[in-house]
Amino acid sequence: MIEYDVAIVGAGPAGCAAARECTRKGLTTVIVEKKKIPRHKACSGILVPASINALSEHFGEVPQDLLAVPSHVNAMRMHFPGGHVVDIPIHGRMIRRDRLDAWLCKASQAVVLDETKIQSFSERSDGVDLLCIKSNGEALEVRSQIVIAADGGASRLVKQIDPPLTAKLTWYVALQETYDCRCHLEPGFFHFFAFPEISLYPSAYVKDNLLVMEVVVRLKDKATLAMARLKEHLWKRIGIEQAHLVRRLGCRVTYAAPRGLFCFGTEQILVSGEASGLLNLFGEGISSALASGRIAGNVSFNSIRKGVSPGRLYRKEIEAEKRRTIGTFNYKTLLFREGNAFNFKKGLQAMAWKERLIFSQDLLKWLLTVKG
Ligand SMILES: Cc1cc2nc3c(=O)[nH]c(=O)nc-3n(C[C@H](O)[C@H](O)[C@H](O)COP(=O)(O)OP(=O)(O)OC[C@H]3O[C@@H](n4cnc5c(N)ncnc54)[C@H](O)[C@@H]3O)c2cc1C
Repeated sequence: MIEYDVAIVGAGPAGCAAARECTRKGLTTVIVEKKKIPRHKACSGILVPASINALSEHFGEVPQDLLAVPSHVNAMRMHFPGGHVVDIPIHGRMIRRDRLDAWLCKASQAVVLDETKIQSFSERSDGVDLLCIKSNGEALEVRSQIVIAADGGASRLVKQIDPPLTAKLTWYVALQETYDCRCHLEPGFFHFFAFPEISLYPSAYVKDNLLVMEVVVRLKDKATLAMARLKEHLWKRIGIEQAHLVRRLGCRVTYAAPRGLFCFGTEQILVSGEASGLLNLFGEGISSALASGRIAGNVSFNSIRKGVSPGRLYRKEIEAEKRRTIGTFNYKTLLFREGNAFNFKKGLQAMAWKERLIFSQDLLKWLLTVKG
């Protein structure tokens, strides 16, 4: 058995941000990650300004070799049925996700046990025991005062902590395919196709001279069929030639926020990042992963130092982040609030009145489909 003040499950942005906060404050910290680092993760790799700011404040400037080509995403270009195209400014950066997470992991200065999976846990009155299995089959017990569960969208820990909540969630599958090909899709934009008959979130963009396509479907539907529909749609419009598949990644996704189905853990287990349900309307989750991970790390320190319940403190401190996520699903907030990561207000201002009306109707139709 090994002992730490804090044990973190998952080496994504939430886990690494939590670890960084803990080690900075002198807590002994371990991250347990089931995959070998660096690992790929289905993600477009767009850092919105909140993510960029959190990284530079907490980890330092993002190293150049993490930035993709092109490194800037000017806008989300929304393509609507009927041929309407609208640019929603993002002012984001495009990064290589495997490298970002490996950098965060190293910079966290925690002990990292990769290729080690959490099998089960038991909560005691003064801490938590984790039973882990290494990739070679060896068992390992980790004892800590606090566990931070940052194990991503289909969190195993949340499933065990709150089975009724997990059962209420609607699950989707995200599929991402990367192609080496010649195509005429304009780089520097995240192209979003608001065509619910293709999939809920069909998108495509150029990254490192490769074409990346993404779809999201309900669990019962076939993601590969949705991808075939997106390909057909794109092939017709942008003349793609000689496409060779480079990578295919997938994962399960759920949108907890519109129904308030968050899980922030128990007394000694703090759930952060996408595991807790913090994922916004456009599937942007790095900013809330970084923010919630940092809050969880900070709460761990304060509760160990002051001997107060980490669970209660965390639920209080996480409230603002929770509200921020819920706000992204609100039609009025989305369109008219200042300072949204996806600046719809500015996008609307650039349109003529008639266009604004058509766009607002198209957007509402799509939003209602997403909310189910
Ligand atoms: C197709 C797609 C595109 C996206 N694009 C963007 C984007 O452009 N910008 C953006 O901000 N967000 C994007 N997101 C969302 C973003 O990827 C996630 O919200 C973000 O990665 C969440 O971070 P996290 O640290 O909570 O979890 P993750 O990054 O998912 O990390 C969780 C980690 O936990 C590990 N783990 C899981 N189970 C166990 C276990 N039992 N034991 C040990 N380790 C375990 C996993 O291997 C993983 O490394 C996208 C998501 C999808 C699906």
